[in-house]
Amino acid sequence: MLGVERRSAPVAPPFPPSRPAAREGACDGAPARRRAAPTIVLLVITGGLLAVLALWWSDTPSVHGLGDYLTGAGRILGLMAGYGVVVLVALMARLPPLERGLGTDRLTRWHAMGGRYVVTIIVAHALLITWGYAVTAHEGLINEAGTLLISYPDVLMATVAGLLLVGIGAVSARAARRHMAYETWYYLHFYTYLAIALAFSHQFADGASFASDLKARIAWAALYLLVAALVVWYRLINPLRNAVRHQFRVVGVRRESADVVSIYIGGRYLDELQAEPGQFFRWRFLSRNLWWSSHPYSLSALPRPDVMRITVKDHGDHSGALGDLPIGTRVVAEGPYGTFIPEQTGRRVLLLAGGVGIPPLRAMFAMLPAPVTLIYRASGPGDVVFGDELEAIARDRGATVHYLLGSRDRLGRDPLTAGQLNHMVPGLHRHDVYVCGPAGMTDSAIAALKAAGVPRKRIHHESFEF
Ligand SMILES: Cc1cc2nc3c(=O)[nH]c(=O)nc-3n(C[C@H](O)[C@H](O)[C@H](O)COP(=O)(O)OP(=O)(O)OC[C@H]3O[C@@H](n4cnc5c(N)ncnc54)[C@H](O)[C@@H]3O)c2cc1C
Repeated sequence: MLGVERRSAPVAPPFPPSRPAAREGACDGAPARRRAAPTIVLLVITGGLLAVLALWWSDTPSVHGLGDYLTGAGRILGLMAGYGVVVLVALMARLPPLERGLGTDRLTRWHAMGGRYVVTIIVAHALLITWGYAVTAHEGLINEAGTLLISYPDVLMATVAGLLLVGIGAVSARAARRHMAYETWYYLHFYTYLAIALAFSHQFADGASFASDLKARIAWAALYLLVAALVVWYRLINPLRNAVRHQFRVVGVRRESADVVSIYIGGRYLDELQAEPGQFFRWRFLSRNLWWSSHPYSLSALPRPDVMRITVKDHGDHSGALGDLPIGTRVVAEGPYGTFIPEQTGRRVLLLAGGVGIPPLRAMFAMLPAPVTLIYRASGPGDVVFGDELEAIARDRGATVHYLLGSRDRLGRDPLTAGQLNHMVPGLHRHDVYVCGPAGMTDSAIAALKAAGVPRKRIHHESFEF
């Protein structure tokens, strides 16, 4: 059945007792934090690339004959690959300005796309250099490859590194990833660090640009060291520091529906985290079976100085185990991350949630100035969570909640059409819209919103997949 209804149910106070939902941790007045703009980041990356090419230019007085051309092209590609891997690692170093300015999903997309280019460049570098040497030495390609591998130990190590990176690229291809557990894919990625370490000495031992240029060697090593330090700091030390400072612990677990639970994470000085509605943390619960992996979950209410809440649907091993977390379990929380944050534009706001997409929108709903409309799409009444809280917020703030119930299969059509949306939200085309839900629902909702006249740049969405 398709139901468009306004719910009114008795208000159940959230657990543990918290401020009235409507006044929950408004983030107004929070000091502005540094955010990198995507264009600036691209310009910096391009600037670095030009500097790398200048390095080749400055130490290559002339090029004569096919062998030189091939070797020269191979060297340029080698320098580009050496620089490219550093950029790829830096994108994933969880640097706060990048995470806030570009967002984890965009960084992940850039990393994936860049990874494909870098792997291709590494293969082309190996082929062109070997071919160039073979032409110059009047040798066959296979013979020359053998000579290089036997005579230069650093080349052998770099070859192993290149093969590792090609392998990681292959398992990251969409088709391969589909058949692999997320954790398997994730931990295989750690071999990237081994590959970078193996290839590093090759660059100084065999790279003509570095052999006679001490300044270039120092600058190159400094670049690698800087990025390594950032990775260690932001991915390792900072989360541990935060865990000690904030003393995160599970203080409550509440079942919201048959397959959805809310976890309350207590701690101290949580306001220092400056988390905003719509953001997420990577949570590592230090229980016997969960300590080894961290998973991203959005805040489903704004943090108070002493407690945060996430709300999780059972999707698999990790999410399914959270309902059994013992109270008192220590937690390492990394974040806040994400750019799915309401912008203060003065326009009306529509929040459009599909199923498990409700948590970040529930947090936004509590703090956005009226008038706000929330459309909550779910397969049936049993899948609706936070009904009471949403009603309380709506009442308190003069906001509107519409429930759109019924699975697509049972309805035989998608209920999220432009006509339906326009009917529920008068003046829809003048709204800022925030959408969160399963990929299929999000895609069709965005298409319907565009058809209803909402400009694309005013439609913001969060994907629960990297
Ligand atoms: C930014 C973001 C915010 C999210 N917020 C919520 C939320 O508020 N509530 C909620 O229920 N779900 C949320 N998710 C989805 C949630 O992270 C996954 O459902 C959960 O990690 C699945 O893990 P699993 O072991 O239970 O299931 P699995 O069966 O192991 O994984 C199911 C799918 O989840 C993804 N996934 C698994 N592990 C990870 C990981 N460590 N990091 C990233 N993705 C992973 C993969 O795409 C995988 O195919 C969010 C995801 C992202 C990216």
